[in-house]
Amino acid sequence: MLLKGKPAADEIRDDILRSVEECRLSGMPLPSLAILRVGNRPDDIAYENRIIKNCTKLGIQADVTALDENVNTGKVINALNELNKDSSVHGILVFRPLTKDIDDEAVRTAILPEKDIDCMSPVNLAKVFEGCERVLPPCTPEAVICILKHYGYGLSGKNVAIVNRSMVLGKPLSMLFLRENATVTMCHSRTRDLPEVTSGADIVVSGIGRGRFFGPEYFSSKSVVVDAGINVDNDNKLCGDVCFDEVSEMVSAITPVPGGVGTVTSMLLLQHVVRAMKQQV
Ligand code: NAP
Repeated sequence: MLLKGKPAADEIRDDILRSVEECRLSGMPLPSLAILRVGNRPDDIAYENRIIKNCTKLGIQADVTALDENVNTGKVINALNELNKDSSVHGILVFRPLTKDIDDEAVRTAILPEKDIDCMSPVNLAKVFEGCERVLPPCTPEAVICILKHYGYGLSGKNVAIVNRSMVLGKPLSMLFLRENATVTMCHSRTRDLPEVTSGADIVVSGIGRGRFFGPEYFSSKSVVVDAGINVDNDNKLCGDVCFDEVSEMVSAITPVPGGVGTVTSMLLLQHVVRAMKQQV
């Protein structure tokens, strides 16, 4: 089965549209997102344009604070503090990685947890690790769970192998799976016999950032594969970490790249603006 992201993203979009309509009818403020960008990286600008386009379609207000690429940590934190204080801003998204001279930890710590829509604040991450259900988790890990649930996969008691131990993906994702009563194995570059570990799992999540790395030997016919990797191949095409053509022939289910986890991630980000607004107003 092909686990496309669009049907799951459409469900989230409908939920956002309902919430925005409720705001309109009840005279509540419309949800509002502030993007904080340092520098003019083309990837960031393309991502920013996509977010703004989606916000416009959904009735979410979106504004950008763009800072020069040579700003120091203090300037970024000042800009963040202005957005923290502004009661008309409900969600803040800081584009990372920041430029190399900016203290990432100081910036992550400065964002107001209530406005932190992609869980960069250490306070919010700690809540994810505590199993708190009210906190907005990081969007990509949440998208992985969301896509599996959308297609009706029960997670309780399932053996899950996650090949990534970063703070943006693997570690918080392991907590979300634990919350669903799955049994999680964390894999990384030093894991011995990775094909044996992954092929024995019911669900495999890949996020190593190496295009078409995982061939059929990493999976079994029962595997449900969620590919969170986003890579650009030699032909300048997007691809996942999994050799999709060969692997999709032999596993039970797989997400495509593009059109899988990333599609759900983008919509969850906007849903988080709405959820943040509801918690604040
Ligand atoms: P990262 O910090 O570089 O983490 C990569 C992880 O993969 C590390 O845990 C690393 O192990 C592991 N790894 C690398 N090579 C490996 C190998 N040969 N065998 C086993 N494990 C290996 O990267 P990241 O920021 O987490 O992002 C990872 C991927 O997810 C990228 O492709 C990124 O584009 C994608 N991503 C997608 C979304 C989305 O919305 N779909 C969002 C965020 C990230 P060590 O810890 O041992 O080094």
